[in-house]
Amino acid sequence: MTTETPISTESGDVARTTHRFEAEVDQVLRLVIRSLYSNPEIFLRELLSNASDALDKRRFRGLTDPSATADAALRIRLVPDGATLTIDDDGVGMTRAELAENLGTIAKSGTRELLEQLRTAGAAEAPALIGQFGVGFYSAFLVADRVDVVSRALGHDEAWRWSSDAQGTFTIEPATRDAVGTSVVLHLGESHRELASPWRLEGLVRKYSDHLPWPIEVRKERVKDEGDDAGGEPEHTFERVNRGSPLWQRPASEIEDASYEELYRHLTHDWEKPLFWRHFKLEGTQELTGLLYVPRRAPFDLFSSEPQRGLRLHVRRVFVMEEEGELLPRWLRFVRGVIDSEDLPLNVSRELLQDSRVTKTIRKQVIKQILDGLTALAKDRPDDYVLFWQTFGAVLKEGLHYEPTEATKLAALLRFESSAAPDGVLVSLEEAKGRLREGQDAIYYALGESRRVLEASPQVEGLVRRGYEVLWMTDPIDEWALRALANVDGLTLRSAMAADLELEDEPAAEAPERTEDAAPAGLERLRERIAARLDRAISEVRVSRRLEGSPACLVDPPGALPPHLERLLRASQKDAPAPTRRVLELNPRHPLVVGLATMADEAAGEASEDTTLLDTYIDLLHEQARVAEGSPVDDPATFARQLAALMTRALGRSAPAENSPDPA
Ligand code: ADP
Repeated sequence: MTTETPISTESGDVARTTHRFEAEVDQVLRLVIRSLYSNPEIFLRELLSNASDALDKRRFRGLTDPSATADAALRIRLVPDGATLTIDDDGVGMTRAELAENLGTIAKSGTRELLEQLRTAGAAEAPALIGQFGVGFYSAFLVADRVDVVSRALGHDEAWRWSSDAQGTFTIEPATRDAVGTSVVLHLGESHRELASPWRLEGLVRKYSDHLPWPIEVRKERVKDEGDDAGGEPEHTFERVNRGSPLWQRPASEIEDASYEELYRHLTHDWEKPLFWRHFKLEGTQELTGLLYVPRRAPFDLFSSEPQRGLRLHVRRVFVMEEEGELLPRWLRFVRGVIDSEDLPLNVSRELLQDSRVTKTIRKQVIKQILDGLTALAKDRPDDYVLFWQTFGAVLKEGLHYEPTEATKLAALLRFESSAAPDGVLVSLEEAKGRLREGQDAIYYALGESRRVLEASPQVEGLVRRGYEVLWMTDPIDEWALRALANVDGLTLRSAMAADLELEDEPAAEAPERTEDAAPAGLERLRERIAARLDRAISEVRVSRRLEGSPACLVDPPGALPPHLERLLRASQKDAPAPTRRVLELNPRHPLVVGLATMADEAAGEASEDTTLLDTYIDLLHEQARVAEGSPVDDPATFARQLAALMTRALGRSAPAENSPDPA
């Protein structure tokens, strides 16, 4: 760590140490500068955002230790001064170690992966990705050639100066600062000197940071009156330029979209606009205000097990903590925002939060607001809803399991690909229900790896042919979600892969032409033969009406896990249960099955060449049924050998000796 290994120390009274930036910082710095040079003014928003956070932290400390805030002004001041601009705050400040740590390393996990993504991302993508680093501070180098940070931490007497010109190293040395807080001094680059103007700064604060709850003051020069001595020092005054009441406390009718979007940026560091937000107030036995956002893009750690601190909890406008799962359920972990409660005590702890009645009300309200918001989004902006679904649908589905009371609302928000819709078009359960055919009492679904595989699977071809809609469920969590859906009133779902599917006969006119209509002789023999041969893998062989163009397929006995999930389970778990013995269904009208039935009949009781050949056919029939549904073949080497031998035979040639079967 840089803190412990300064690369040089100058001796003497003033100990200045030079440190090298962590490799990641160096890369991030360069990326920030390269990607954002066209929008340099955002540096101010980032630095003000940091200052505001530092003030939040100090006030929070003051809740338990009043001396932490006693006699402090608690504000942010901007001091333009020719070639420099100073952003000064009365926040918690930083110790020497914190300066080195916070401004010299990137603590966030996943930084390396993100950097990798950035390297391959296009220019348009980069800002959104950079937002995920939490590297706002480095944007100072967009406008400054050198940055000094003078800071004195709460509870400390000494101050330290961090300084860098972003050329790979930074220095830290003792400094003086009268009061606790931080001053960021920007030595503006030649082309950015115009920023050191009070009016320019005032405009930028209004534009980007008006919502911040702390007073932001800009130093202005007052030209002295005629009567004053000419050539005297100009008089300086500080003027507050932001409104400073928290945005969420203002009436929604007075807030512009741009302000909502700015607060979102402050909260999330996401440089894209949110998909939508909900601003609400609850009055009555409990009072609370909330402003919740749903982002457009998933954070890179959406599926990590780390808690996501999505909500900032305020008590009567005072920021108290970033919340970790009490107010915001994990299946809504993509939500960001602010909750401001009138009822919690200011010194609320995590423990207290865990079993507070207030917490339950807030949580319920958060769930309601987001589900209502999503329902409205689906109705009013269906294209954006699809975007949401593709980004966060898998997370939302977890709610079916964890929040059974919301299953009905959640069910209405689900989207699936379907045999009744073109590739990429998603349908809701409601739509599928509207398309149920007469006498159909359940929506059919097929669980599998991909739409392509499912579409080609023999199990569903009979259904689709008969004009039934089948929903393609290709998300690994779908199997799990389905269990919860079983309890949703008025909704019945049935697996198209299930062994007990009863299909009515097709009307004669629609039925395609068939080679044979009556059950071929020997079918029963064939069935027995297959059952004996494949006993290890197959629990039952039966004749089926579901198949059209395929000779056979594998279906799941009741309660079995679909094969692709069994594979997932086996891959992730050493002692996963043995694979389910599945049901093999035969298409009695398929010429191959007819031919094999005849062969079985003729070969009955004999141990001849033909029985060896029949067994080969049976093995291949089984393996091709696996291939057709997207499962890997059991024994690829044997499969390939048997197939090659058979093809050779079909060409009328004889196979090499070792490649049995080889009837002459
Ligand atoms: P982020 O704010 O996303 O964490 P930054 O690079 O902007 O990333 O800042 C890194 C860290 O430096 C902050 O998390 C904070 O701990 C510290 N920091 C930055 N500016 C200040 C400040 N003005 N006062 C106190 N701490 C600060």
